[in-house]
Amino acid sequence: PPAVAASAAASAPPHLLLICFPGQGHVNPMLRLAKRVAAKGLLVTFSSLASVGPKLAAAAGVSAGGDGVPVGRGRVRFEFLEDGDPGPDLDDLMRHLETAGPPPFAALLRRQAEEGRPVACVVANNPFMPWASDVAAGEGIPTAVLWVQSCAVFSLYYHQVHGLVEFPHEDDPTARFKLPGLPEMSAADVPSFLLPSNPLKLHADAIIRQFRTIGRASWVLVNSFAELEADVVAALPGVTPRPPELISVGPLVELQQQEGQEEDDAVRGDLIKAADDCVEWLDAQPPRSVVYASMGSVVVLTPGEVAEMAHGLASTGRPFLWVVRPDTQPHLPAGFVESVSGRGAVVAWSPQERVLAHPSTACFLTHCGWNSTLETVAAGVPVVAFPQWGDQCTDARFLVEELGMGVRLRGARREAVREAVKAAVAGPRAGEMLASARRWSAAARAAVAPGGSSDAHIQAFVDEVARRAQG
Ligand code: UDP
Repeated sequence: PPAVAASAAASAPPHLLLICFPGQGHVNPMLRLAKRVAAKGLLVTFSSLASVGPKLAAAAGVSAGGDGVPVGRGRVRFEFLEDGDPGPDLDDLMRHLETAGPPPFAALLRRQAEEGRPVACVVANNPFMPWASDVAAGEGIPTAVLWVQSCAVFSLYYHQVHGLVEFPHEDDPTARFKLPGLPEMSAADVPSFLLPSNPLKLHADAIIRQFRTIGRASWVLVNSFAELEADVVAALPGVTPRPPELISVGPLVELQQQEGQEEDDAVRGDLIKAADDCVEWLDAQPPRSVVYASMGSVVVLTPGEVAEMAHGLASTGRPFLWVVRPDTQPHLPAGFVESVSGRGAVVAWSPQERVLAHPSTACFLTHCGWNSTLETVAAGVPVVAFPQWGDQCTDARFLVEELGMGVRLRGARREAVREAVKAAVAGPRAGEMLASARRWSAAARAAVAPGGSSDAHIQAFVDEVARRAQG
């Protein structure tokens, strides 16, 4: 009878549907947000493209469709869009998705309603799928955007898009500029997509384009935390035209690092299978001895850089765990893996957060992607920052100079690698860097602990979605 159906619908948890670009640096924060929100009682559907569906389903241990798995008081389920994937080239994929993405996404949203779980809110991670919020609006569904980079980077883009800043010329390393709530910066600190020399024009266009529509989102969630970026967040409301309010919900890292919290990394999003034996290998190393090195999921070093990095890591005299993705492994010097066996381990992919949380890990040689940055902040591990492009440049500046958590590596020469690792682990300022890293780790954990700043923001978001779903 209708009355029974109505009461069942009223008691069903609100349904949040995330649509995620199929890159590792997007999947990780989106999936972690999915779990945080589900833990507070929502039904969450994580959707992405069918091209990554089988990998994600395998990593998460959940098949598409159906009821998904319980996470805290809610559930996380998966759905994948059949888009006719054009291949791995990012520019081709973005162009293709502009036309091939909206119809299956609209169909997915409608199907949720037909199957009895109407979507109360879509979470989209612009910039590479800017059409998602338009499709949601067409179905009468509000959108939240998850900004997967720092608030500092948001501010730099925002000022540039609205013509509120002129960055110094790249050829003048001494020239500085100043934006509200940010330290004095040089062109080297600006996301490289905003500089004239950027070769990735389509990326830059996509990132910039989203600022024209981001104000339409009902919420702009950011993977950061209030204590980390207090000054820049406080300054943004004073900017004209006024940017949307940034709601910090991070760091979106696995809660296994939170004492007293349940492990929640059973549902993972690895697009490359992580080596099984990293943790056992780390268990066998002395405390705070290991150099962990990884350049994330996208950065490609030249064969020469890979060789220099190999010699540099081997020359530190320390154990090292180095992530060399399968596409890069052919660039390793011949016989390298065998020659360092026992002291050095090379893996195609690691369970990075477990590695960072491990007591044997001493420092992280990182490309400074924002996820890696937040993960090392949360784990309290000092860094050797080796940014390549995009927001990595800004993140490195913050890690090293503002947070005081490490040193900068400029160029992949073997001597420079050796000296940078030495400075971060055993140099005269290493103790200071470790102390800073531990302070930031405590602040990050506090932000996501029950009642912390980001936890409170997530609760408020969940409550508002639930209130709108009922109204
Ligand atoms: N990651 C991992 N294992 C690895 C290397 C990276 O699990 O061997 C994860 C890492 O924890 C992070 C993500 O992949 O969550 C990379 O995102 P990030 O923003 O740091 O860099 P991107 O890959 O987007 O450049």
